[in-house]
Amino acid sequence: MDCLDGSPGEFRNFEKGDFEADWIKVAESRFGQVYQVKLKLSQLQCAVKSFDTTQCAKNVYRRLIEEASSIAKVKSKYIVTIHGLCREATAMVMEYMSNGSLNNLLASHTLMWPKKFQMIHEASMGMNFLHSMKPPLLHLNLKTSNILVDDYLHVKIADFGLIHWEEGMNKKLFTESLAARGNISYIPPESFTQGSDPPGTAFDVYSFGIVIWEILTQQKPHTGCSVTTVLLQVSQGKRPSVELISEQRPPECDQMIHIMKQCWEQDHRKRPQFSDMVKETEALSEVLKIPEPIRMSNSDSSQKSGYPRQLSLIHKIALPELPDLPSADDQHAEDEILSLLS
Ligand code: ATP
Ligand code: MG
Repeated sequence: MDCLDGSPGEFRNFEKGDFEADWIKVAESRFGQVYQVKLKLSQLQCAVKSFDTTQCAKNVYRRLIEEASSIAKVKSKYIVTIHGLCREATAMVMEYMSNGSLNNLLASHTLMWPKKFQMIHEASMGMNFLHSMKPPLLHLNLKTSNILVDDYLHVKIADFGLIHWEEGMNKKLFTESLAARGNISYIPPESFTQGSDPPGTAFDVYSFGIVIWEILTQQKPHTGCSVTTVLLQVSQGKRPSVELISEQRPPECDQMIHIMKQCWEQDHRKRPQFSDMVKETEALSEVLKIPEPIRMSNSDSSQKSGYPRQLSLIHKIALPELPDLPSADDQHAEDEILSLLS
């Protein structure tokens, strides 16, 4: 018997009675709720993500049931572990990540450069793991709220394998369903064109480019823009502003910016694969672990960055915690995109 009170590695069917009675609501989104729960026998903390009765959420849950056994096999330290289903609650049971989403962390704390680089590297490792599967497991919903943070501020990819390109679907329908989740910023421009070719790994690579930008700037892309504006601008090759990345940055950040720009290339064939990217993000994240004075004496000292010395890796910003609720823009996304693509 393992810590999940079942066979090791098994995708379990949980009953509500397997958990302690107090379910703590962690977040509420348009398509369901996330609760922190505790298993009665092992006292292991889990997260339960319930799916609402909307058509969109029901479809995702239906696919999850169909693919439960293969999803159970996806295990890596860079991926949130899926423990099983709780059919009574139309919910998925997964590893509990105590520091919530990277989306919230970026809004509530100032991250120092080594931490930012480490998180980018860990997320690229998680994505590389999914894309290395045969066939590659596409995420198709990669965003900072689907990158979760553990007790030790390490990040893992969550909610993979939930969004699918259905047989007979066209790009219009697919893009509509993603935009309805408030994900317009993460959708690559090739998805806005007519056609029926399914998304490939380059889809996630584009989303990852936006994630890198969010980590480097600690801002949200396209704030205040309507879905229509984002769609038009992205189609024309416009991307979030690199100017918003602080000038008080280490010289190595320019290489990270280069990777980010490759990820969001207009031509999806020019975007890198995660298998190549992880080597670069690893090297960059390693180099930033070395204290700056030592690093500077080993490299070109004329490139003096002047960025603040790292006293600690994160600082809390004096702001209230932001809930992971859809923004007003997101709320209108579905209607707007429907009219745009029709
Ligand atoms: P989507 O449904 O498209 O994935 P989302 O990520 O914004 O959208 P949820 O997946 O429902 O919405 O997650 C909402 C929030 O719940 C997350 O941003 C995070 O703060 C929290 N959360 C989700 N999963 C976990 C988990 N395993 N452990 C801890 N908190 C979690
Ligand atoms: Mg999620």
